[in-house]
Parts: sequence; C-alpha cells; structure tokens
Amino acid sequence: MSESPLPIEVMKGVYLIKVPLPNNPLKALNSYLIQDDIRPLLVDVGFSLPECEQALSDALAHFGLAFDDVDLLFTHSHPDHTGCLERIYSEEMSIFAHMHSFIEVNTRQEMQRRTYLPIVDAIYDDAQSRRQHPNRQSLSSELIPLKEDYPLIYIKEDDVIERGGYRFRVIETPGHDSTHICLYDERRRLFISGDHVLERITPNISSFFLETDELQDFLDSLDKVRDLDVDLVLPGHGEVFTQLARRVDQLKAHHFERLAEMEDLVRAGHRDLIAITSNAHWKYPNWHSWAVEQKFFSLGETLAHLVHAVHMGSLRMTIEGIAVEFDLAD
Ligand SMILES: [Zn+2]
Ligand SMILES: [Zn+2]
Repeated sequence: MSESPLPIEVMKGVYLIKVPLPNNPLKALNSYLIQDDIRPLLVDVGFSLPECEQALSDALAHFGLAFDDVDLLFTHSHPDHTGCLERIYSEEMSIFAHMHSFIEVNTRQEMQRRTYLPIVDAIYDDAQSRRQHPNRQSLSSELIPLKEDYPLIYIKEDDVIERGGYRFRVIETPGHDSTHICLYDERRRLFISGDHVLERITPNISSFFLETDELQDFLDSLDKVRDLDVDLVLPGHGEVFTQLARRVDQLKAHHFERLAEMEDLVRAGHRDLIAITSNAHWKYPNWHSWAVEQKFFSLGETLAHLVHAVHMGSLRMTIEGIAVEFDLAD
C-alpha cells in the first residue's frame, strides 16, 4: 500500500498532488494533474529525489496511469519544479515549457555563477560559515539545473494548451525566473500561478546580473495578471487560494517597503552587499549565523532590490574590481 496522500480534486478533473521536498523550507511542491481521456497533463514534478518520484507515481497509479501515459508542463526551470524529469522521463511524453532546452538554463546559470562567485566567496569568508561548511561544494546542489538535455516543446505568450475540457492560455511572467509562465483558463476562471504568486510565501526574486532588473520584470508580471477574472489560484507551493488581486497588491507593497529599507540602510552608511543584507530586517535574526544557502538567497534578493533602485535612479552603483558599492544618487 502506498503512503502518499491521495490527490485532491481542486476543480472538476484537476487534481493537486503534494510532492514532498525533504529538508527544504518549502516542504512540498504542488504538482497538478489535469485529467484527459487521451493524454492527461502533469504540471511541475519536484526535485530529482526518490520521495518526489514516489509521490507522483502513487498519485498516477490512483488513476490507473503510469508516467508513459502523461504529458508534462513546467511553469519554470527551477529544480523543485523540473528536477524529477530525469527520473520519470519517457519518450512518449510531450514536455511543454517556456524554454528551448535545459542547455539554455545551464548557460544562463554558468554566466550568473561568474558574476556571483565573488559574492559566494564573501559568504564563506564569514568565519561562522567556514566552520559550518568547510567544503564550498556544499552550496545547494538543489540549485543546479538538469544536466542532460530533453526534447522540450517551446510554448510562449498566448499559446493554448487544451486538456480535459480546459483551455489554458500561456501568460509569460518573468521575474522569479526568466522562463516563468502561468496558465489561465478564462472560461473556468482558473489560474495556475507556479511560483509567480504564492499564498503566504513571498516568491524569491534574485538578481545576479547587475545590469538586469529582475525586480522590475517581476513587478510588471504582477501587474499583468492582477486583474484577470479568477476564482481559484493554483500555486506551486502552499495552499490554493482566491483573491488574486489582493495577493498581488500585498506582494507589491512588500517590495516597495523593502526598497525603502534598502535606501535607508545605504543612507545609514552600509555600502556593500553583505553589510546591507546582514543589517536588513529578516524573518530570522542574526544573519551571520544562518546556513550558507539561506545567506545566498538573501544576498540575491537584496541585490535584486539594489539593482532595481539603481535602475530607478535612487541609488548609484560603483564597481571597482570585484567590489561593488552603493551610494545615494544625488
Ligand atoms: Zn521557483
Ligand atoms: Zn518552487
């Protein structure tokens, strides 16, 4: 007998499968199965971990399905949504995503790595981190995208995916990830939001390219979906929810508060990324004692706000060698 919880029907013929993410603060990924007489569609699949594969295969078995019988769709490239592909892949599958291949994702990450290596070095130079993680390689293997390439079907704005009587229009929503898309069925007022809009969690927005304003992309993508006529939102983590516009407004307010805080910190004399990040207000105190992964995400998020402030003209950035400093713009 399987121990996985049964899939939950959230709307007629649409099932929520809770895929566990062991040792991860997100706890679980929401995978959605859209039933169909010919090819059911599975949206997002979890990490490349046996626990994720088991949860998916148990859920499919509940409907008498195997991995060969379903097609896949990825809301974005992150490993908690795509990683399990390497365990469940079958040549029968059509795999839809707003990316041409995982090579594209890997290349982008490799470019980012060159930008953020000095940042990672700086975290490890923090004495407490060195004691916790003597091996630098330990930095989140969960962050690394799929190595092997799989045939993906590229989908883009306004493409339509029809399954089980639903008609999902693709909406490009870059910000949390440049490959991010949402799915919207206007007639059923159903919105599959991926990690673009989550119920309680603030989606992580990180910049590692100093010239790319990911936060602006995210804010634009929030505006783009705010006024859709939606009864039910199906997010990538946490609970399904209603009131999309209200949640969008909360997320925007959060980022505007954060921007104001970053400017205050720079005004108070904190100049470099680590000084600004470690003095910012976070859910958990004592930034210097955090695990390296959490520090890393907080630095990326801080940088996204600082880069946005530079693009908006309220801060100025100076780069000397690998040192980046922020000042108030005159
Ligand atoms: Zn994500
Ligand atoms: Zn996610």
